[in-house]
Amino acid sequence: MQNLTVLGSTGSIGTSTLDVVARHPDKYQIIALTAHRQVDLLFRQCQQFKPRFAVLLDNNSAAQLRALLCDAGLKTEVLCGVDALEAVCILPEVDTVMAAIVGAAGLRPTLAAARAGKKILLANKETLVMAGNVFMDAVRTSGASLLPIDSEHNAIFQALPQGYEGDMAEAGVKRILLTASGGPFRTLPLDALHSVTPDQACSHPNWVMGRKISVDSASMMNKGLEVIEAHWLFNAAADDIQVVIHPQSVIHSLVEYVDGSVIAQLGNPDMRTPIAYGLAYPERIDSGVGALDLFKIATLNFEKPDFLRFPCLALAYQALHTAGTAPAILNAANEVAVAAFLERRISFLAIPRIIETVLSRLPVCTVNGLEDVLEADEQARLCAEQQLV
Ligand code: NAD
Ligand code: MG
Repeated sequence: MQNLTVLGSTGSIGTSTLDVVARHPDKYQIIALTAHRQVDLLFRQCQQFKPRFAVLLDNNSAAQLRALLCDAGLKTEVLCGVDALEAVCILPEVDTVMAAIVGAAGLRPTLAAARAGKKILLANKETLVMAGNVFMDAVRTSGASLLPIDSEHNAIFQALPQGYEGDMAEAGVKRILLTASGGPFRTLPLDALHSVTPDQACSHPNWVMGRKISVDSASMMNKGLEVIEAHWLFNAAADDIQVVIHPQSVIHSLVEYVDGSVIAQLGNPDMRTPIAYGLAYPERIDSGVGALDLFKIATLNFEKPDFLRFPCLALAYQALHTAGTAPAILNAANEVAVAAFLERRISFLAIPRIIETVLSRLPVCTVNGLEDVLEADEQARLCAEQQLV
């Protein structure tokens, strides 16, 4: 039996994780579930999975959940706040932590899980973007195991040799080919981009996801964050990671070897596949995802990314080249800008402008520890907020 904490259980990745878990009650047991403030959904999840702990961020939501659980006669203990998120990751009885909180809020609990040597199913790419070296050091020092859940990185993990330890040359790997759908605005006339709405940005052609990552997909910042994520996960230089636009989202990424072989992982665009792979690794279990129908798909297309249309992708490559706190600054500025866009305070095209301004105004420092990252994150948020008024 594998004991799990699911961080962000009410989100898109969280609910997909619980869908897979529910198919295998003999294999997985939920110890803790966490959410920001979605009381009703978290309550229903508690009824179904009977965890020992449920965590919410604010006191009011926690009190509401306690009352609902008490009425239903359930024994789940309700905790509250950021420290509680960390606490449910490091419990001795927890084997595995699904890190599926969105944004920088996921960093502290995910890092706590790494330091405690847990098996980490990493969906929260922002952890690696902000604090890649701190997090990877923690994983190595504690002997934690790290399985990428982001579909592209999960595909790369599957296409790399078993036991790959971060030396591309030794493994005969030439390049990583990171696929991207291109999002909903891939073919929209450029002059129409300034007036696109949050709902248009969130209507992704292939994937159903949370709103933040959906906007990131529309701007291709998501792919930029994923380039940085791949850098840390696979010890790949920025120039060895090629983004390939592949509108069908059937090939989830590829690894090119020095002998000319290119190995890809394919599947329907459904996050339950990488989640099931991470849960059961190195075995395979049913994920509930239907069979891939190649005859129905018939055609696979590939395009080079257009950096004029997708300036966020260029900014992310630039931040990775700059290194130090630059990716943390990029990530924080992006979070502020995306939230403002979702609240209709700024236009879609203001997102890259704000990020570029913040990157040009703030000094970049070396990352010696978590404090350096948190400081850069805070400064970048302040600077980005100033651009909104
Ligand atoms: P989502 O918005 O659907 O869900 C986010 C979850 O985090 C919710 O449970 C929410 O309650 C919780 N949360 C939000 N803010 C919080 C805070 N401040 N403190 C504590 N909890 C908070 O997001 P998602 O689409 O499931 O994405 C989760 C993560 O997985 C992101 O980092 C995203 O980049 C990554 N990811 C998602 C997908 C996908 O298909 N959705 C694919 C690859 C990677
Ligand atoms: Mg992805």
